[in-house]
Amino acid sequence: MLKFGLLSMALTGLAVLTPAVAQDGKLRVIAFGAHPDDCDGKFAGTAMKLTRAGAAVKFVSVTNGDAGHQEMGGGALARRRYAETQESARRLGIAEYEVMNNHDGELMPTLEVRRQVIRAIRQWNADIVLSPRSNDYHPDHRYTGVLVQDAAYMVVVPNIVPEAPALRKNPIFLYYDDNFQKPAPFRPDVAVGIDDVWEKKIDALDAQVSQMYEWLPWVAGNLEQVPKDPAARKKWLLQTRGGGRISPAIRAALEKRYGAEAGKIQHAEAFELCEYGRRVSVEELQKLFPR
Ligand SMILES: [Zn+2]
Repeated sequence: MLKFGLLSMALTGLAVLTPAVAQDGKLRVIAFGAHPDDCDGKFAGTAMKLTRAGAAVKFVSVTNGDAGHQEMGGGALARRRYAETQESARRLGIAEYEVMNNHDGELMPTLEVRRQVIRAIRQWNADIVLSPRSNDYHPDHRYTGVLVQDAAYMVVVPNIVPEAPALRKNPIFLYYDDNFQKPAPFRPDVAVGIDDVWEKKIDALDAQVSQMYEWLPWVAGNLEQVPKDPAARKKWLLQTRGGGRISPAIRAALEKRYGAEAGKIQHAEAFELCEYGRRVSVEELQKLFPR
């Protein structure tokens, strides 16, 4: 597997790469984030529900996170963050969390990284691929969106990355939700209520210690508010991450899907159908996601 490791600098192999798991009729989902906690924040609740429904879910961080801290960096930080991803994956129950060995804060949509993304989608034999949109504030997020879009057609072209057999069926590509308005606001084609797994999502984020309790509060200027005690800080995370964040558009999408129950939903994740890859109707898409 193409996991991050100190000695696994060479990400390209000459051997023929085969899908990670044999075809068994399970829905296969691969989620890309720029950093080793991005998929967790955008998709952990739905990922857990999909896993419970029998899907095989994999998270991929396109960078190794080696710039995301105020006191540490480089290999030591990348190793720490890799360990955090594995603990998060364990808590979520997802099949795998891969961290690609590209530098944090310096991601570019190069041919080499595009190949890494194509390889990962093919090896997972993905039915559904998720990524950020390419109009995000953070260049790594933006280029992760570009890289996945650039892979959307190429995953079916056999002459590209020939060592990883091309997919015969183009996956469905989806975007995570965001609040950016330009050039177009996010459009929630499917919304998933996640109240039933909300505390589990927080539990997964709690595994991302270097981010949730150190780096992100430092960036936000509220590091001194973070409790030292592990139980107290988890409660703090639950409080600061919770409540009132469902946009009117996502609320409307929830109403369409859940009817009268939608009003009670406090936490949700939502996804927009990309124009690339396999096109499905919104109705078909809704059927693929657990309620
Ligand atoms: Zn990020």
